[in-house]
Amino acid sequence: MPTYESPWMNEELRMYRKALREFIQEEFVPRLAKWREQHRPDASDWKQAGQTGLLLPDVPEEYGGGGGTFAHQAVVTEELAQAGVNFGCGVQGIVSHYILNYGSEEQKKKWLPAMAQGELVGAIAMTEPSAGSDLQAIQTAARRDGNDYVLSGSKTFITNGWHAGLVCVAAKTNPKVAGFRGISMIVAETKDLKGYRVGNSLEKVGMHEIDTCELFFDDVRVPAANLLGKAEGAGFSQMMEQLRYERLMISVGAIATIERALAITIAYAKERKAFGQTLMEFQNARFKLAQCKTEAQIGRVFVDNCLQQFIAGKLDPVTAAMAKYWLTECQCRVVDECVQLHGGYGYMSEYPIAQMWVDSRVQRIYAGTNEILEELIGWSL
Ligand SMILES: Cc1cc2nc3c(=O)[nH]c(=O)nc-3n(C[C@H](O)[C@H](O)[C@H](O)COP(=O)(O)OP(=O)(O)OC[C@H]3O[C@@H](n4cnc5c(N)ncnc54)[C@H](O)[C@@H]3O)c2cc1C
Repeated sequence: MPTYESPWMNEELRMYRKALREFIQEEFVPRLAKWREQHRPDASDWKQAGQTGLLLPDVPEEYGGGGGTFAHQAVVTEELAQAGVNFGCGVQGIVSHYILNYGSEEQKKKWLPAMAQGELVGAIAMTEPSAGSDLQAIQTAARRDGNDYVLSGSKTFITNGWHAGLVCVAAKTNPKVAGFRGISMIVAETKDLKGYRVGNSLEKVGMHEIDTCELFFDDVRVPAANLLGKAEGAGFSQMMEQLRYERLMISVGAIATIERALAITIAYAKERKAFGQTLMEFQNARFKLAQCKTEAQIGRVFVDNCLQQFIAGKLDPVTAAMAKYWLTECQCRVVDECVQLHGGYGYMSEYPIAQMWVDSRVQRIYAGTNEILEELIGWSL
């Protein structure tokens, strides 16, 4: 058997992985059915995740984080994917990095420790009903009035929207400037915030345990000091910069899902019999699994390389786009093939492969659709 271990793996990360695996199996997996039914985890689950070190593992300790690197975040993402659990801690990580990279010292000290403890849940609100891929077309406005911004508009498909106590909102601070130059990121603290409203959790086809909501801002007053960055108009470049982190995290989740789907399907093919032999004895099954395994290995090596580049501060946006685009396409191809090898059982919700199939589809859509990423890669050539 060929063996490959990620070059970034070390003893400390192995121990972290083991602790997380036990926690997820013991605490999160048994609650999945409840979360799926109510379309979200409970606030107490967030706090427990914080106490266990699942949140903000790559944020410096001085701000309450785990003091690790992106490798720690990757371990969290992999372990959740391996357990088939979707939990909004990826978005929590993304929001924390906006604050870490563009926030003032005061903002970091105020928000990050509470986020690390799961007492404060973060959401990032870019997408609007009429502007998703084309972020320059957002209409949410932030009008300056004295020491406040007055936010008006609506956002949709917002992960963690229900629980979010901190929403990082993309808004137009200067409607007179066309396109991306007029956009800024403003942080709204939602507790008792007048004019702020969360819609019901949206009915998705998969990932039911994650809450995804519409958010409404009706003349919401936010202190002007909650602007992220030193000046207005930096929002679009901040989003483009931070999307590297998000796209890499999605790629890590994609490869972990591919590996899980393969392990499950190889075991199934060795056991399930048809025409007096196991599926594995059919050349077609072996060839299909051989192709998937090869793609998985290519994907793993690529993700590992991106991860190391990221930790070294060298991952460029185009390579991050390539990773998200290729890995998520690969995920959908491989998982679909694995469903096929399961036959009718692959279409039954109680089989993990069926759940993986519905959950995988959205990976090609969010954090920049794969078509937008192909555009980005294409323009770089
Ligand atoms: C489960 C889920 C969670 C999400 N979480 C968040 C979140 O937390 N925060 C947030 O802000 N957003 C979130 N989103 C929104 C997501 O990022 C958007 O759905 C995505 O960016 C696509 O935007 P859209 O849905 O408006 O599609 P559109 O932009 O309308 O695209 C429709 C189709 O047209 C294609 N297309 C558009 N423009 C081009 C072009 N120039 N060239 C070629 N093809 C093009 C797209 O690729 C796509 O196939 C989430 C979405 C989902 C489904």
